[in-house]
Amino acid sequence: MTATSMDGRALAAKVRAAVKDEVAELGELGLATVLVGDDPASHLYITRKHEAAQEVGIRTIDHRLPAETSEDEVLELLRGLNVNDEVDGILPQLPMPGIDEARIIRAVDPVKDVDGFHPLNAGQLYLGRPTLVPATPTGILALLAEYAIPLDGARAVVVGRSDIVGKPVAHLLLQANATVTICHSHTDDLARQTLDADVLVVAAGIAGLVDPDMVKQGAAVVDVGQNRTEAGLVGDVDPGVAERAAFLTPVPGGVGPMTIAMLLRNTVLAARYRRGALAFPRV
Ligand code: ADP
Repeated sequence: MTATSMDGRALAAKVRAAVKDEVAELGELGLATVLVGDDPASHLYITRKHEAAQEVGIRTIDHRLPAETSEDEVLELLRGLNVNDEVDGILPQLPMPGIDEARIIRAVDPVKDVDGFHPLNAGQLYLGRPTLVPATPTGILALLAEYAIPLDGARAVVVGRSDIVGKPVAHLLLQANATVTICHSHTDDLARQTLDADVLVVAAGIAGLVDPDMVKQGAAVVDVGQNRTEAGLVGDVDPGVAERAAFLTPVPGGVGPMTIAMLLRNTVLAARYRRGALAFPRV
């Protein structure tokens, strides 16, 4: 058996087309990004986000600040963006070296928090009442839905417990009525857990962590890994897993393209919340 490849590029294109229609219907939408320092990868990510936003008709505001920028200066900028009526979404690009990132995340108005990292939005997800949810996990669930992977009653195993991927995707799977196990660097006998998975999501940042012997025949496997190696960009899942799994996301072209598409969708969602089309949970 060779796994069906879950095509993130194709689905992301569909999502972006739908977002474009919604943007046209809503009128002016603004996404502001804040980048500190000169990390080339961060600059590239931000440029890609701006291009993607502009393609769907979202106006973007690009703040690129020098590495010496203080935490207070970033907080001040965020306060201005919070009250700026032309800004629907705010995206502080992380990491921000030398800056307390938890403070930065808390300083974004939760209704403009298109990353879904603010404790209010993270808490809503934990409570099973999701509002703005991080883009990568949302993209993963969209891929699983697109390929009609059953989640209700399924055994889902998540490898990795990061705030950005592992924890939120585990909550989304739980909400979809899967039986969820979260594995991490202290998990004893990882294979014993992963072999049980009908749905396996791997987000550990370790090239080839999951090999074919760790996967149940017929499982759906989502590879969130983006590891730069001498062999190029590789995932956390050995490509040989395609011989055991029924569904597998490729790297690149699987989860990656979904992330930016879902960020754009979150910007539309944030605009709907702020304009009162959806109720945002304020005190
Ligand atoms: P991401 O950004 O993809 O979420 P991070 O690098 O932030 O990834 O986090 C890596 C996660 O992977 C951590 O939660 C860590 O506990 C988990 N992890 C690291 N090594 C292993 C391992 N050998 N087995 C299982 N999980 C691991």
